[in-house]
Amino acid sequence: MLLSIRDTVAVAVRRAIDPIDQLLVLDPGRRGVARFFRPGGALGAARALGRARRVLITTGFALGPGLSETDGPPGAAVLGRALRRLGMRVRYVIDAATLPALRAVLEVLGEPRAIELFPDGDAGVAARRVLARLSSTHLVAVERPGRSRDGAYRSAGGHAVGAWNRPLDALFLVPSRATTVGVGDGGNEIGMGAIPRNALKAAGVPPRIASVVPVDHLVVAGVSNWGAYGIVAHLGRLAGRNLLHSGAEEGRLIEACVKAGAVDGITRRREATVDGVPLAAHAGIVELMNALGGRR
Ligand code: ZN
Ligand code: ZN
Repeated sequence: MLLSIRDTVAVAVRRAIDPIDQLLVLDPGRRGVARFFRPGGALGAARALGRARRVLITTGFALGPGLSETDGPPGAAVLGRALRRLGMRVRYVIDAATLPALRAVLEVLGEPRAIELFPDGDAGVAARRVLARLSSTHLVAVERPGRSRDGAYRSAGGHAVGAWNRPLDALFLVPSRATTVGVGDGGNEIGMGAIPRNALKAAGVPPRIASVVPVDHLVVAGVSNWGAYGIVAHLGRLAGRNLLHSGAEEGRLIEACVKAGAVDGITRRREATVDGVPLAAHAGIVELMNALGGRR
């Protein structure tokens, strides 16, 4: 705990002057996020996405049958809404495990349910087909399992989760001209391959779980939803309009996920928390983002 606070402050003071980064580096799960945090990552992702035309967003982390996480879909939907408001075409490509939660959050936001399921069969073939059809200029993953060095998908606790999650990371591995963005909080998500393996190891991420799937713009945050909101805060500032949601809406998003059957990724309980952090704290983070960066 002490080490974590010291690391967090050190990063904030040394490099992350941006107030949004200061919020993203908060580490409620005490996972040592500060040790693999990417200062400027959210801003870089926002700058890249600001030039997008057609965006494919994926999300969803299932820990077992019927155990889809509350972290991911809210971030994906808030980011998708921001991009759609900026005039971009947004499509969500997910698997069946995440469908109820993503549908529920899009409904809370009054957003179109532009969702498709990743096709069955060989993942590489499916990925090529989806990318060719959607001609996506940008790909975004928010809290989505990324394969590790041995090809397996693992939870932060080291459990194999490949049986419950389709290999959607193939979208980020087949050759394409799309710019890629990944948001994660544990080291095992799509995008973490952008961090050198020994740097992740030094940060305390077990090599067995570390994802080797890289992205052009990696956003690390204490909770992945926050990372997506951080991108939205920067998008709003760059566009000169507020694109973030409110703290009250954040509460409704989390509650909708739970009602749709999602569970907290850490406690595995069906309750209105994300990564073991109570709803009020998530609402507070969103309000802080609005106060510090989103509305300027
Ligand atoms: Zn995670
Ligand atoms: Zn998480």
